Amino acid sequence: MLDHGKGARVWDTEGREYIDFGAGIAVNALGHADPELLAALTAQAGKLWHSSNVFYTEPPLRLAEELVQASGFAERVFFCNSGAEANEAAIKLVRKWAAAQGRPPERRTIVTFRGSFHGRTLATVTATAQPKYQEGYEPLPAGFRYIDLNDVAALEAAFAPDDVAAVMLEPVQGEGGVLPAAPGFLQRVRALCDQHGALLVLDEIQCGMGRTGTLFAHVQDHVTPDIVTLAKALGCGFPIGAMLAGPKVAQVMQYGAHGTTFGGNPMGAAVARVALARLGSPEVLLNVERQAHDLREGLAEINAELGLFEQVRGRGLMLGAVLAGPWKGRAGEVLDHAAAHGLLLLQAGPDVLRFVPPLVLTDADVAEGLQRLRAALADFVAAAGAAA
Ligand code: PLP
Repeated sequence: MLDHGKGARVWDTEGREYIDFGAGIAVNALGHADPELLAALTAQAGKLWHSSNVFYTEPPLRLAEELVQASGFAERVFFCNSGAEANEAAIKLVRKWAAAQGRPPERRTIVTFRGSFHGRTLATVTATAQPKYQEGYEPLPAGFRYIDLNDVAALEAAFAPDDVAAVMLEPVQGEGGVLPAAPGFLQRVRALCDQHGALLVLDEIQCGMGRTGTLFAHVQDHVTPDIVTLAKALGCGFPIGAMLAGPKVAQVMQYGAHGTTFGGNPMGAAVARVALARLGSPEVLLNVERQAHDLREGLAEINAELGLFEQVRGRGLMLGAVLAGPWKGRAGEVLDHAAAHGLLLLQAGPDVLRFVPPLVLTDADVAEGLQRLRAALADFVAAAGAAA
């Protein structure tokens, strides 16, 4: 049971220290107990916690301006409280846009990708093309089509029925196994969307906010999206989500078309303003590059010794170590060994160890974290040998 944290370290209720290679689930990008985040939160908490969306408050207006500015493509922003809500808003915006164009409901299909994860509401779990999240919740909403990531032929075929209103994807799939879109794939998606009058929706809830080395992940794919969703690291642990809308769709939803009681909460927005400024700063982004390099090198060294991974993939500080043949399905066991050695680690499905640490972790955090990981993996191998 975790009790408190500082930077990339966390302590449990019995005083044991852990290095945090998970940051919640890619949330605490500025680490734990960051003084500037705390100051922003407490200053706003002393002023105003909440106002209905009938009245304006300053923090969400400023944050919206800053997100528009930082994105380089968005004109308007909708605030909510979570990733699922941001994606739900994006799905609704696609539908509303298609309706405004006179498209009948059967021509409002949204193409999504196997292995994706977009949230747990009925619409977002339907966009999430993984049966394990959908089973038992049928009937699911209509209007989604699933294909494999990085399969250009399948992508082209998905457009054939001429009913596609949008393609929605994560530039780097997170829950699905830390799988990046291949170089050029997003550009192909963009080109097909343009050719068929469809929208490009990017879910950067996990891979955005500096995690891959740029504030927005898609910058590295050289595409301009129509809609981008953010959450997780946007509030660095305070719940806030956002949907950014570009020029084609920014005016589609007018007053009353969509809403939320808590979205745009001034405390969340005050925190997110600090997060946005810091996570987009050269200081943090250079640290991502530096620590990602060291983490990859360390993983390669461990693997040269223990031979557990068939591949280490990902971008920036969003890395996945894919377990090799005999170890597949056992990521959960590795996590238990890691925790026993003072390392908080995540999995992305049963076959992949996921590394999504705070973006401010230090050289010492990486070096010690890797030592603990090596010890945990050696234990795991020994335990497996003893059981065999
Ligand atoms: N989209 C992506 C890419 C995610 O990784 C997640 C959460 O893991 C979500 C959406 C859903 O966000 P939330 O859990 O805040 O609803």
